[in-house]
Amino acid sequence: MSRPIRATIHAQALRHNLAVARRAAGASRVWSVVKANAYGHGVLTTAQALAADTDGFALLGLDEAQALRQAGHPHPILLLEGVFSAAEMSRAAELGLSLVIHEPRQLAWLESATLGRPLAVCLKFNTGMNRLGFRPSEAPGLLARLLKLPQVADVTLMSHFAEADGEEGIADQLAVFRPLLAASQLPFTLANSAALLRFPDAVCGRQAWVRPGIMLYGASPFPDRQSAAQLGLRPAMTLSSEIIGVQALQAGEKVGYGGLFRADGPMRVGVVACGYADGYPRHAPTGTPVAVAGRRTRTLGRVSMDMLAVDLTDLPEAGVGAPVVLWGGEGDAHIAADEVASSAGTIAYELFCALAPRVAVSVAP
Ligand SMILES: *Cc1c(COP(=O)(O)O)cnc(C)c1O
Repeated sequence: MSRPIRATIHAQALRHNLAVARRAAGASRVWSVVKANAYGHGVLTTAQALAADTDGFALLGLDEAQALRQAGHPHPILLLEGVFSAAEMSRAAELGLSLVIHEPRQLAWLESATLGRPLAVCLKFNTGMNRLGFRPSEAPGLLARLLKLPQVADVTLMSHFAEADGEEGIADQLAVFRPLLAASQLPFTLANSAALLRFPDAVCGRQAWVRPGIMLYGASPFPDRQSAAQLGLRPAMTLSSEIIGVQALQAGEKVGYGGLFRADGPMRVGVVACGYADGYPRHAPTGTPVAVAGRRTRTLGRVSMDMLAVDLTDLPEAGVGAPVVLWGGEGDAHIAADEVASSAGTIAYELFCALAPRVAVSVAP
């Protein structure tokens, strides 16, 4: 048998989570964000699960977009950073993609392009995040140039929030964006998962497209405020493995590299076939939750490249071969990816995206 670590992608959970997004989105249309290989879940697997219920997909790379077209998906596909060269502009048009334009050189490429068919464009404005986008004051000039181009099928106004999940919220950025909308009456797209779930009234509507990502995968966009379960989301990925070794420790004995954990009494320690080379966070300290044989326990000591240690002291029935859930799972074996992420000082986004290629992935219908 091969090494027992595996990731299971739950197609049903993906569909359920999209339905949660749709409910929040009301009349808005939904771009399911499948960038970064669908946050580690597999772009084709995820697209197939969501195809019947989404209005479109959003991602970064032309190659991923092409893979979706080759798999037969006719949906709108939005390139979230637009294209990176003039040559990509033609390829994007051939694939019938929608493009973000956030930068003058992208506009220049579009103006000088001869395209087989016109492109749908999202004109992106920097309303305060200071990452990508034009200044709002440039809107009239940009729209005048774009709207007269035969290369352009339609224009949607776009922005992105920096603190939709935090204290600040979206009010300040919204106040910068709203006059653009009022002046142009164009369709618009603003919301990531956090904004969609926290401020649906401000970011949804018949003219709106929303862009949920993380919530589709069953993690909370604001785990400190509400857990994924409280938001009605289900884990779309279970990372599981098995116990491959057991050690009996005496008081004072230590576990793993650096001897970071020291037993203060007799203990049973299980060794799990999962390490940071599988994508498990090395910074997860002693006490990170993990489920063994359907019961919650904790990790011990430092995570190694290929293994980590768990506390079996209160699980006498769990020995070599016992099933382990690192995150995902259900019932008593459920461990939220957000819990592991928080323990390791990161976010579930990073855990999912870091899933290593060596982990075998299977899909549950
Ligand atoms: C990644 C991304 C999203 C999705 O964000 P989530 O927080 O995962 O919902 C939406 N819009 C843009 C521009 C993005 O880059």
